Amino acid sequence: MTVLVIGSIALDTLETPFGKADEQLGGAGSYFSLAASVLTRVQLVGVVGADLPERHLETLRAHGVDLEGVQRVQNGKTFRWKGRYEYDMNVAHTLDTQLNVFGDFRPDLPDRYRETSYVYLANITPRLQLEVLEQVRNPRFVGLDSMNFWIGNPDTKRDLTEVIKRVNAVFMNDAEIRQYTGKYNLFEAARDVLDLGPQVVLMKKGEHGAVAASREGVFVAAAYPLESVKDPTGAGDTFAGGFMGHVAESGDTSWTGLKRAMIFGSVIASFAVESFGTDGLLGMTREAIEQRYETLRQCIMFEALGAPTGTS
Ligand code: AMP
Repeated sequence: MTVLVIGSIALDTLETPFGKADEQLGGAGSYFSLAASVLTRVQLVGVVGADLPERHLETLRAHGVDLEGVQRVQNGKTFRWKGRYEYDMNVAHTLDTQLNVFGDFRPDLPDRYRETSYVYLANITPRLQLEVLEQVRNPRFVGLDSMNFWIGNPDTKRDLTEVIKRVNAVFMNDAEIRQYTGKYNLFEAARDVLDLGPQVVLMKKGEHGAVAASREGVFVAAAYPLESVKDPTGAGDTFAGGFMGHVAESGDTSWTGLKRAMIFGSVIASFAVESFGTDGLLGMTREAIEQRYETLRQCIMFEALGAPTGTS
C-alpha cells in the first residue's frame, strides 16, 4: 500500500542544547517520508527552489520515496525554518519561517497519485492541504497535522477547520490543540475536534508520549525510553510517519489497529530524536523498529486486577 503526503521540504537551521546545524534537509514532508518509507511506499507532494542541494532529493529517493509530485522552481528559494530548543526540549521556539516557493505553489498531482487511498496532510498552509485533498479521488484514511503558525491567524485557522471536517485523524501537540479549541483540558479539547467529524485525535506530548481520543475511548502511548535525546525536530512528523505507514501497510483502521499504529509512531520518532536532523532515520531498519516495538510494549503493559501475582 502507498501513502501520499503533502508537506514542507525545507532547509532547517537548528539549535538545541546539544548542538547546531545550518541549512540541513528538513521539513514536515521530508521527515514524514523518511519515517513512513520503512513501512510502506510513499508519494511526496511539495516544492523546492533551485538552491536545494540535489543530494537531499537523492537521500529521499534512496529511501524509496516517489518524488514525481515534487516540483523544482528554478528561480525560487526553498522553504526555510529556523528553530531553537531550550534545555526543556519540549518547547520549540520558531525564530524564522520563510515560505518562499510554498508561497505560490499550486499542487497538480500526477495521475497515479490521485488513486492513492492513504493520505497525510503534513504541516503546511491549510489551503494547500485542501487543494491536495480535493485532487485525491477516493481516499480511505486521511491524517492531518498543523501548528501554531496557522492556528494563530484567523484566515488560515478558518481554512484549517474546513480541512479538519474532511479528515479521519488529526495530529496536534498539546499546546496546539489548546490554542485551536481555547480549551485547557485535553480531553475536552479533543471532544471539540471529534465533534467536527474526525475518527481520532492524536495529541503529542513530546517526551511524555502521545494520547489518542476517539469515540471508542482513550489510549496513551508512552514515548520510547531513550537515554540520549539530541534534537526533537521532526518528532511529530516521524510519529505521524510511523502511524500512517502502519495504517497503510496493514489497512487496519479499527481502534485496535490505530493503537498499534501509535506504537509504531512512538518507536520511529525515537530514531529521529536521538540524532541531529534526519540522520537518525537514515540507517533505521525494520528489525530495529520491531525490537523497539516489543520493548515499548513491555514498558506499558500491566496486569489486570486479580491476575496471578509473582509469576515473573
Ligand atoms: P516537528 O518538529 O515535527 O513539529 O516539525 C519540524 C519541521 O517542520 C521542521 O523540519 C520545519 O522545517 C517544519 N516547519 C516548521 N514550521 C513550519 C510551517 N509553518 N509550515 C510547514 N512546515 C514547518
